[in-house]
Amino acid sequence: MSDVFYKVKGLPSEVGGQNPDGTFWSTTDPDEIARIVAEDEAKAEAEVARKGHDCWDNPVHSLFRSSRGGMQDAYNCGICGELLQVG
Ligand SMILES: [Zn+2]
Repeated sequence: MSDVFYKVKGLPSEVGGQNPDGTFWSTTDPDEIARIVAEDEAKAEAEVARKGHDCWDNPVHSLFRSSRGGMQDAYNCGICGELLQVG
């Protein structure tokens, strides 16, 4: 399972993301969502510890060229440049 697209506060009613093969997945199962969110938060904490900063504290607006063509709004970390969110 790939990264969840967006950072959440509390539990959303639906969580989705993109698979490595480019297809999208989503779920509305509360147990599944709780597990995914907990996993995502643990991963985010590990990243903060590794990098020494929280990328989400330093978002910079940018444009992302999608694989289907066209530009989309995106956000990158202003410190390390990591792509945080598209759309
Ligand atoms: Zn960063």
